[in-house]
Amino acid sequence: MSATSFRGGRIMGIRIPTVFDENDAKRCEGCGDPIAGIPFRVSIMDIVAREAPPTWAEAAPLNPGPHQFHADPEHVRAWARRKGHYICRLSGVRELMRPVPLPTDPPAWGICDGLHREAHEFVPA
Ligand SMILES: [Zn+2]
Ligand SMILES: [Zn+2]
Repeated sequence: MSATSFRGGRIMGIRIPTVFDENDAKRCEGCGDPIAGIPFRVSIMDIVAREAPPTWAEAAPLNPGPHQFHADPEHVRAWARRKGHYICRLSGVRELMRPVPLPTDPPAWGICDGLHREAHEFVPA
């Protein structure tokens, strides 16, 4: 039995409750499949609050994560696409991303690693 299939049981006479249900199992938020091994984690920095967030941003808060994905950046993009987020073309997919409220219609979040000096170039994920 592998560690990932452990569903609770008895070890040395001590009842071990089932800790992980389907929601807690390591599943990729991009494709929904289980993640074998170490997931790629992405956190969204909570920096908007210190600036002047548009009113809609409070109504559509970003989950700061960490979100868990397969190592392929395409799975992070799939998650962002489903959420309606934009991703900066000058940004890589990194473990720490910054949210930028976009004045699009409807309003959306842009996500960027913030490691470039040029203006953001947000495109739909
Ligand atoms: Zn995936
Ligand atoms: Zn950018």
